[in-house]
Amino acid sequence: MRYDVIVAGAGCAGFAAAVGAARTGKKVLLLDGNASPGGVTVFSGCPVFTPYQTFEDQPPRGVFKEFLDRLGDRWGYFGGAPACKTSEFDAALTMTRMLKDARVDLLFYATVIDAACTRDRIESVTVFCCGRKMTFEADHFVDATGDAVLTEMAGGRTVTAEESESMTKTVLFRVTGVENFDKPRIRELFSSLDFPYPWQNNFMGTRVGCDGKDILINLSAVRGDALDPFDRTRMDTELREQVDVIHRWLREKVPGFENCRISAVAPVIGVRCSRTIVGRTVITCRDIDENTPVPDGVANGRRSYGDHFVDRFRSPWGKEHQGTRPVPYGALIPERIANLTAAGRCISVEPRVITTVRYAPCCMATGQAAGVAAALGIPSYDVLKTELVRQGAL
Ligand SMILES: Cc1cc2nc3c(=O)[nH]c(=O)nc-3n(C[C@H](O)[C@H](O)[C@H](O)COP(=O)(O)OP(=O)(O)OC[C@H]3O[C@@H](n4cnc5c(N)ncnc54)[C@H](O)[C@@H]3O)c2cc1C
Repeated sequence: MRYDVIVAGAGCAGFAAAVGAARTGKKVLLLDGNASPGGVTVFSGCPVFTPYQTFEDQPPRGVFKEFLDRLGDRWGYFGGAPACKTSEFDAALTMTRMLKDARVDLLFYATVIDAACTRDRIESVTVFCCGRKMTFEADHFVDATGDAVLTEMAGGRTVTAEESESMTKTVLFRVTGVENFDKPRIRELFSSLDFPYPWQNNFMGTRVGCDGKDILINLSAVRGDALDPFDRTRMDTELREQVDVIHRWLREKVPGFENCRISAVAPVIGVRCSRTIVGRTVITCRDIDENTPVPDGVANGRRSYGDHFVDRFRSPWGKEHQGTRPVPYGALIPERIANLTAAGRCISVEPRVITTVRYAPCCMATGQAAGVAAALGIPSYDVLKTELVRQGAL
């Protein structure tokens, strides 16, 4: 089967890429090994589309804004405190409805296992799906796999983060039946000596659900190599042990949590940073520190880097600058492969800079840009910009 554009990976970046590409009138296929769209936001249990990079100094735009609007009252705040009412189910369902409205062909349970290339082009991808192999051809492809899988398979240049530059891996879990959520108090207890995992120096808990009694906890930090299957398995099992131990600790030690129960644990380990493409432009620490000019901005990222370090919350080399910073078009275009763009957390950055571009709103924005660029044959920045403006993304 032949398409104009194939998007590999249906995380929030691939979702936005497919919608953006289809809105140019092209025939688009979106593939993912999972059972629905959403990637990390759905399968690692973090449907908290962090607003702080977006709402404070720029309003949401494009596919991301439409997504929030479509979530409607499934998305919101509790009394001004940042909290999210949406769930993994709501997020995936809303994405699926938007993809269908945009007439994107969907193929889930389909893992890309090979890419056939001639010279500098990808001709087709092969997926393993429901016990058989299927091959799909396209004029252009988008790598939205989070781990730059398609770029790697096609022989493109990639960079894998060293452990000292990487970020912790996480299993998020939800507890229900919390009577009193006193975050500052939990933070204090959390730093106390009897906390079972003393290297964790930052409690991350967010109120979710509708009655204020559910807390999404993001504290099970562990280090390791997300691209090594054995190490990934080891991290996964270690993290699930931590969830059980921390749940017991919460019940025993934290006022208001005495009767809390685990209501959900993410099925898939949360990976923030693994492998990225090497693009025409590589976003560097220097770019962020010096705020170098970006003549070809397609999205907005944060102007800081270095959180969720391997053994503490902030890395020793991290920098916290205020505000946002444009993401250049050049960071979405891999070297060597003429008909490929990249989107989301695998775009071209120095590993330390991943924080700048990895938040879900930014991934959706780079996704939409990468999808439109692929649909238009990777055009000049001016042509891309015109279409992104037409789509309400810039
Ligand atoms: C624990 C954790 C908490 C976070 N919290 C927040 C938060 O509160 N707010 C926020 O804004 N951001 C948060 N983030 C960051 C943000 O959620 C992610 O960076 C972003 O969602 C990444 O989107 P993506 O589409 O680039 O990648 P992913 O979500 O990783 O999607 C990649 C997709 O590609 C698919 N795929 C990979 N390989 C193949 C293959 N070979 N064949 C087929 N499919 C494949 C995967 O199944 C997946 O669906 C968090 C991240 C983590 C890990």
